[in-house]
Amino acid sequence: MSQKITINNKVLIVEDGLTILQAARANNIYIPTLCEDPRLEPYGGCRLCIVWVEGMPRPATSCTTPVTDGMVVKTHTEYIEKLRKTIIEFMLSDHPNDCMMCQKTGDCRLQDLAYKYDANYTKFVGVRRNYPIVDDNPFIHFEPNKCVLCGKCTNICQNLVKTGTIEMTKRGFYSKPDTAFSKPRTPENCQFCGQCISVCPVGALSERPSLGKGRRHEMKLVRTTCTYCGTGCNFYLNVKDEKVVKVTSDYDAVVNKGNLCIKGRFGYEFIHHPDRIKTPLIREGDGYREASWDEALTLVSTKFTELIEKYGNDSVGAFSSSRCSNEENFLIGKFARTVMGTNNVDNCARV
Ligand code: SF4
Ligand code: SF4
Ligand code: SF4
Repeated sequence: MSQKITINNKVLIVEDGLTILQAARANNIYIPTLCEDPRLEPYGGCRLCIVWVEGMPRPATSCTTPVTDGMVVKTHTEYIEKLRKTIIEFMLSDHPNDCMMCQKTGDCRLQDLAYKYDANYTKFVGVRRNYPIVDDNPFIHFEPNKCVLCGKCTNICQNLVKTGTIEMTKRGFYSKPDTAFSKPRTPENCQFCGQCISVCPVGALSERPSLGKGRRHEMKLVRTTCTYCGTGCNFYLNVKDEKVVKVTSDYDAVVNKGNLCIKGRFGYEFIHHPDRIKTPLIREGDGYREASWDEALTLVSTKFTELIEKYGNDSVGAFSSSRCSNEENFLIGKFARTVMGTNNVDNCARV
């Protein structure tokens, strides 16, 4: 079933069950948000997605309001835009506003919105939070004073990662995402998947190993597939000066929808490790010598052919790895059966 609604005087036929925000996005109508993520239950935390809905007594959060047939919505009235600007100014009133030194500059939703709405960061003056920076583990750097309390980090940790490492603690002005009893993150209480970092719209949570190594506009983004397991998650290598300095999520990836584990997000240092084997090695005597791919593959095929001619097709077999993608595992099976003529195919994930 579909619903007929009007957004900004435009009549739209939208799918049943959508929120106003989803219906607007599906029709390329921009509504600002800080706390929304399609993978998480919407909860109307940041209030920036408010819209005017005919018949409702006050502005409604578009991320939590379902569309109903005949609904008339306006997303950018003068009043709504003024409210949004005030919300941003409230956030800036208790924010370090040190964009010059911030790791997130150029990739910060708050910075973009402050610019867009011409927000004044000195309009509201009062008490400011003064929490120390949390830098107690090798992966996650947390600057609580930059937190805009959007709740995405705690939401993704609780409801998608499901470790429940962090939760919104304290109340009101003093609220902040934190571990139980403010204990350091350790392998016992945190997966170090960095999912919380990936959703943070501001510079409150950052990748510890990437600090000071470059900002978004300096990075060349290279989309690739993770080499650690057969799930084959996609992500972007952030490359600066020919060096990988960070991994960021690809939210359009069909396989993982932007989600990553610790290995995918932080396990990239091997790429530039001096001990990394970059060429095939052929055993000679007690050691190995480097060889070209042509030489190595010719040697392997010659040896396989000799074995098959001497002992028959079932004297050889193929073992593949769970680190390969499904497609690569399929190919090795196909190669064994159609080229080597054997069904001796196995994989380390079988048992
Ligand atoms: S989090 Fe954003 S707005 Fe805040 S200092 Fe950093 S770049 Fe500026
Ligand atoms: S790294 Fe993963 S497990 Fe740890 S707090 Fe962040 S989302 Fe939760
Ligand atoms: S740390 Fe970032 S993601 Fe978490 S609540 Fe604060 S602003 Fe939102």
